[in-house]
Amino acid sequence: MRPDTPAENVVDHTAEAARLERTADRYPEDAEALLLQAAAHLELADARPAATALYDRLLATPDTLENAPLVRALKASNLWEYDHEAEARAIIDGIRTTAPRDPAPWVIVAESLESHDELEAAHDTFTEAAVLLLTDAVEPPYATHPVLFGRHRVRRMLGLPHDDWDARADTLHSSPISLDELHDPKRVWSLGSDNPAELEAEISRLRAELGTYREALSRPFPVAVLHWPATELAELLTAYPDLAAEYPSHSTHLSTIESSLRELSTSGTPNLGIVTGTVPSYEAFAASESSSPSDTALLPQYATTLAARGRAVAWPPQRTSDCWCGSTTSYSACHG
Ligand SMILES: [Zn+2]
Ligand SMILES: [Zn+2]
Repeated sequence: MRPDTPAENVVDHTAEAARLERTADRYPEDAEALLLQAAAHLELADARPAATALYDRLLATPDTLENAPLVRALKASNLWEYDHEAEARAIIDGIRTTAPRDPAPWVIVAESLESHDELEAAHDTFTEAAVLLLTDAVEPPYATHPVLFGRHRVRRMLGLPHDDWDARADTLHSSPISLDELHDPKRVWSLGSDNPAELEAEISRLRAELGTYREALSRPFPVAVLHWPATELAELLTAYPDLAAEYPSHSTHLSTIESSLRELSTSGTPNLGIVTGTVPSYEAFAASESSSPSDTALLPQYATTLAARGRAVAWPPQRTSDCWCGSTTSYSACHG
């Protein structure tokens, strides 16, 4: 059992996208989540027209989508990255007019405007979202924080004074580096600098901000650890004895899951979860990958695929909730 934690730079984004697309064909009910992740991988591989094709495939049946404005926003942002500016702007105008109640599409289109130096339009878009989603909100919901943070950043670049929402953003931001330091226009502009030391310092600060952003991202890549219930593990090891080295005993398997997740959590990995495997679904997965279930390299891929299908249960559970391992004992009295 290994958690699937590939470093960003060693992921083969093209292969990962292809795998997620194949999975979407097999599980059409999970296609929206799977194809959005596949498109994100294609964007990271700079295969932008292929990403657009996936967005279009989803948008062909908008009524079946859980979050059509999000898909449109991602499509617009991607289009603008490869010189389809007019089409991107038309979609962005449409999103602003229809005013979705979900913050994610707002943030994506405002950041797209911002990254193309349309600061006034980005500011207006963030503000429209804030007015729509935060007027009368006593405590801004977690999903709306990126609206306030993005608005705060654009306002500093425009040289505007702090207003109430900016002050709110400052108090909501919980990172070792304050929002005002992160969004200092001198810092933001110095990203264009050719002084290596200056750039290196800016990049490490940007990482801090990106870390926060990724946590709030509407389509996070969950890091999921694979869990086999006792009967499934027994069946798995009977059928594929080669896997015994991976799983010495069921109780060791369970404690390894807990300790791996704690280690990941301590190292600052957000979005942790547990996916539960079954022998038939693992065999089907191995067949779809034209591989043998005995191949231990398949185990983390199987976990990632289950997570991409939305099957991950968030870890850790509440202390008083049932433990993730399936015992009827509370988490704090069991593996917690
Ligand atoms: Zn501030
Ligand atoms: Zn337990």
